Amino acid sequence: MILRLILGDQLNHNHSWFKTIDHHVQYVMMEVRQETDYVMHHIQKVLAFFAAMRAFARELTERGHRVIYLHLDDPENTQSIPQNLSRLISQKQISRFEYQLPDEYRLDRQLHHFCQSLHIPSLAWDTEHFLSTRNDVADHFRGKKTYLLESFYRMMRKRYDLLMEGDQPVGGVWNFDYENRSPYDGRVAAPSPIIFHNDIRQLKSLLRKINIKTFGHCGDELIWPINRQQALEVLAFFVERCLPYFGRYQDAMAKDHWSMFHSRLSFALNTKMLHPLEVVHSAIDAWKQDKAHITLAQIEAFIRQIIGWREYMRGVYWAQMPDYAHQNYFGHDRRLPHYYWDGDTKMQCLRFCIEQSLRYAFAHHIQRLMVTGNFALLTGIHPDEVDAWYLGIYIDAIQWVEITNTRGMSQFADGGLVATKPYVSTAKYIQKMSDYCVGCFYSPNKKYGHRACPFNSLYWAFYERHRDKLAKNPRIAMMYKVLDRFSHEERNKILSQAEEYLKRIEEL
Ligand code: FAD
Ligand code: SF4
Repeated sequence: MILRLILGDQLNHNHSWFKTIDHHVQYVMMEVRQETDYVMHHIQKVLAFFAAMRAFARELTERGHRVIYLHLDDPENTQSIPQNLSRLISQKQISRFEYQLPDEYRLDRQLHHFCQSLHIPSLAWDTEHFLSTRNDVADHFRGKKTYLLESFYRMMRKRYDLLMEGDQPVGGVWNFDYENRSPYDGRVAAPSPIIFHNDIRQLKSLLRKINIKTFGHCGDELIWPINRQQALEVLAFFVERCLPYFGRYQDAMAKDHWSMFHSRLSFALNTKMLHPLEVVHSAIDAWKQDKAHITLAQIEAFIRQIIGWREYMRGVYWAQMPDYAHQNYFGHDRRLPHYYWDGDTKMQCLRFCIEQSLRYAFAHHIQRLMVTGNFALLTGIHPDEVDAWYLGIYIDAIQWVEITNTRGMSQFADGGLVATKPYVSTAKYIQKMSDYCVGCFYSPNKKYGHRACPFNSLYWAFYERHRDKLAKNPRIAMMYKVLDRFSHEERNKILSQAEEYLKRIEEL
């Protein structure tokens, strides 16, 4: 008998494992504290993973496969993946163990060591999900100091012949980013996001009974897709309602719209309920059929996220782990202030983004990058603290894509491998791209003094503090010219204001 392990983010309905029914194959899935406790997660994240795993196990059983499913409260559940596997291997007289390669370094190493300790043969399979191999990014950038997404993205466009005419991009341009920076003007109504009403009362009481520590809010219904049918509905909704404006408003933020024109496909993709290529083809088909409404700039922006950023981040992860998890280029050491956990701050931009994250386990890219990430970087929060927060709070957070975005892109803790300059801004950017500043306790136009927006002074203090590390970066040199043009008095006022805010960071 062969034992095959399916991890919680390996819900790939179309994997070749499941093409034939083989009664000599025993599948196993397990809910374990090893996975609920390695970081504190948002309650919706734990519920969504377990609900989706349960639905997947049911589907496999209905298709005729043999599946053992260990619930969190099964008396035999040791709460550890290797220990559960060892028990099953001896109880069921297993002659071979097989698994799909995990996406997380932590699990990859754990299963690798487990297999080495076995007295039976083992085999690791590909997940058949990603469009590039673990090593593609490392190979592509061998010997380079920075990994520029753009060149990897072009290689992927050619490799998969997406939006190509021969070896040239459709429309003669690879990247329409410059067309995609509009604030939300309300001219097109942002659709209410598609949500589901998955009953999770039982699972919720199980988490309570076992005393799993979580944070964030959740009612009795889970809004996230937990099976393939629902995942396909989110995809169809996105293509029809959001894609025509995806690129144009992808950097926009608005108080009344928590997901704007974003797809909200990340959970379905990261759990592998959807394949990236089916997502991409579905969007390209819609564009081909309706070029009047879906312009090339919109479809290109979306394709870039899926075959570019997503694959690229995974490649960076495998090229850089395990050292990446300890990078702290600026030597930041501050603790995350309490409002990241409760949203209780007078800074309206942070309050909106954090409250929304606590309510839905979701924030879109610019909220993560230019509000919560921006503030954490400006205030010098330790990257471990920032990582733990992002890894816990978002529905789609799995380390391979969380850490590369957080430590790399958002916190510049890798010294510029992923981002060519730190993503920091004053209030000016937030004011331009959102309506958060309207009605805020702080004034976006003041750098110091009564109710001056903290982002303004912290921004200049950040550059001053890290002059030795940043001044030589050609993309930033301009900022130092501006900083050095401030009068001595002006500069002192800004820096003192920043110092004062940092001292009472918990009260802002
Ligand atoms: P859309 O905006 O609709 O984009 C479509 C898809 O493209 C996404 O579903 C995602 O699969 C992919 N994508 C877009 N941007 C990125 C990116 N930068 N990296 C990788 N894939 C991308 N994404 C995660 O999936 N998990 C995370 O834990 C995560 N943590 C992040 C932390 C920070 C600090 C930042 C700045 C970004 C993070 N991202 C993460 C990337 C991005 O913010 C999310 O993928 C996106 O917001 C998910 O919402 P969506 O599905 O509506 O995306
Ligand atoms: Fe955020 Fe400053 Fe604008 Fe307030 S004024 S919302 S703190 S950027």
